Amino acid sequence: MEFTVIGHWGAYPETNEATSGYLIEHKSSKVLLDCGSGVLSGLQNYVMLEDLDTVFITHLHADHIADMYSLEFATLILMQMGKRTTPLDIYVYCKDLTKLDFCYPEYVKVHPIDLQATVAIGDMTFTFSENIHDVPSCAVKVSSSEGKCLVYSGDTGYCQSIIEFSRGSDVLVLESSFYNVQKGLNNGHLTAGEAGDIAALAQTGQLILTHLPHYGDHNQLVMEASSHFDRQIQLAYCGMKLTI
Ligand SMILES: [Zn+2]
Ligand SMILES: [Zn+2]
Repeated sequence: MEFTVIGHWGAYPETNEATSGYLIEHKSSKVLLDCGSGVLSGLQNYVMLEDLDTVFITHLHADHIADMYSLEFATLILMQMGKRTTPLDIYVYCKDLTKLDFCYPEYVKVHPIDLQATVAIGDMTFTFSENIHDVPSCAVKVSSSEGKCLVYSGDTGYCQSIIEFSRGSDVLVLESSFYNVQKGLNNGHLTAGEAGDIAALAQTGQLILTHLPHYGDHNQLVMEASSHFDRQIQLAYCGMKLTI
């Protein structure tokens, strides 16, 4: 599997960058995890929009879904031009799909994410686990037919479920919204120390810190995580690629 970071900022994008968005490619399958602000522009550096198979949205906060509505229009135009023949499948984790503002069901097929279900796309499978967050929010596990596995946390506070869900993963892409000194500021997000602790307890192969804050020195986040987790830790950045 090829993993590409399209956007890694929490809350809002820095200049020419994006909030949450991650491209997963395996054989001919192309899947986007989250589609926050700035993602649609950046995504086109790596994939033709008509080739995108499916999008998974972990929750309804704007930094994870904002560009999805522009992607609906892109799909409409691509289908009208004959460049794309099938609607785009979108899986969304929320309690009430009527809260979504999609306008064209003939171009975008919206499915609820079912925590009990497995979604197969090409030779990959996708499963889900509920997080602690201000709104209903899930983590996503991507498993390849070669037995490799990546977990993307979406937004979460510290909880046992993300530890269990991430156990034994090859790569854990984990939000790190806060520095340790901010612990307790918002229980729906993680400090870097908590991210390192989760990675260690889950015995993941490597940790990628993402959903990064707009202040401070991000190297401090790595230091704080590394006091718990002694395997490889990297900061997500726009264009970061990983083969899993
Ligand atoms: Zn977020
Ligand atoms: Zn959120």
